[in-house]
Amino acid sequence: MRPILSLRHVTKRFGETAAVQDVSLDLKEGEFLALLGPSGCGKSTCLRLLAGLDRPSAGHVQLGHRDVTKLGAAERNIALMFQSYALYPHLTVYQNIAMPLRLRSLTVMQRLPAAALLSVQVRGVLSDIDTRVRAVADMLGLTDLLGRKPGQLSGGQQQRAALARALVRAPSAFLLDEPLSNLDIQLRAETREEIKALHRRTGYPFLVVTHDQADALSMADRVAVMMAGRISQVGTPHAIYHTPATREVAQFIGQHRMNILPRGAGGALHPAGAKLDLGVRPEHLAVCHAGTCEARLPATVESISFQGDETLVRVRGPGDASLLMVLRGADAPPEQGASLHLTAVPGALHAFGEDGDRRELAA
Ligand code: ATP
Repeated sequence: MRPILSLRHVTKRFGETAAVQDVSLDLKEGEFLALLGPSGCGKSTCLRLLAGLDRPSAGHVQLGHRDVTKLGAAERNIALMFQSYALYPHLTVYQNIAMPLRLRSLTVMQRLPAAALLSVQVRGVLSDIDTRVRAVADMLGLTDLLGRKPGQLSGGQQQRAALARALVRAPSAFLLDEPLSNLDIQLRAETREEIKALHRRTGYPFLVVTHDQADALSMADRVAVMMAGRISQVGTPHAIYHTPATREVAQFIGQHRMNILPRGAGGALHPAGAKLDLGVRPEHLAVCHAGTCEARLPATVESISFQGDETLVRVRGPGDASLLMVLRGADAPPEQGASLHLTAVPGALHAFGEDGDRRELAA
């Protein structure tokens, strides 16, 4: 897939602070890319640089093969959508969607209602706009809502209307900044599905910025993880979860924070644990019953928290390490204070060197 929109060794400084440092990133044809990282890591700055709202301090921005570093937002034709959809509240959905085309194709005088009565040319343009508005509305399932004002739409419908307004301009790419924040859990799950469906239907390249790893993993084809102004890893959601490139990425990704057994303490689970930090996700720890496991880690149960679909068990392991274990399904949880042995699901151990980078473990 060819790159549509790219940052090439881009740095952005605000005074002394480098918000973005030597970042290279490609948004490819038709893909859904998520830019994921904790608050303040530089995600929104990357988006603003891509859209042309900010200029880099160093490096280049490319749109296909064109260098657009010095071009403003209006010359890039990239759709940028923020949390608030900013539809014009006094206009109907139809008028909202038609607005960018009217602004582009008609002069101020031609936009007056009387102009359509007097000018054949204006009638031609309006008919063309009408065709395009209806085609986009049809694609996004908005046909029945064209006569409504934004205040008469649900959150999801407003988002679709805003997307339709961006789509009607035939942009090169869609950039969405935290589209799911401020939504409750259920609406969030529905909106994720809706955004994924919109991406499939439109076929445009989508770049979504989010601090929520579950949003990124569930929606994107590829995830770029950003930490402190730099890209730490780019990969499929599967690769980011199963083979995190650094300890930082490993602990940022996953519903529950990955356990780290400091070097020495993990020796009972894997020989490499004597020299390296070992990581294991809470969902990949299990209780070892009656000596059936090859590698066993002695631990004492400190607390148990029943959550419905899962039970969180906090244990104290070797080297005084505090570890979390997640039990799912109908397994009876151990008793508080019990001494037991833990084992890790085969292949689910991660190792990190002193520099925090991943080390591959021998099988
Ligand atoms: P969030 O998820 O909280 O929005 P983010 O990852 O999008 O965070 P940015 O908004 O890109 O982060 O900010 C990155 C860093 O740059 C932060 O330390 C922020 O304070 C700083 N920063 C961003 N914009 C400016 C600005 N206009 N002037 C000065 N500093 C800025």
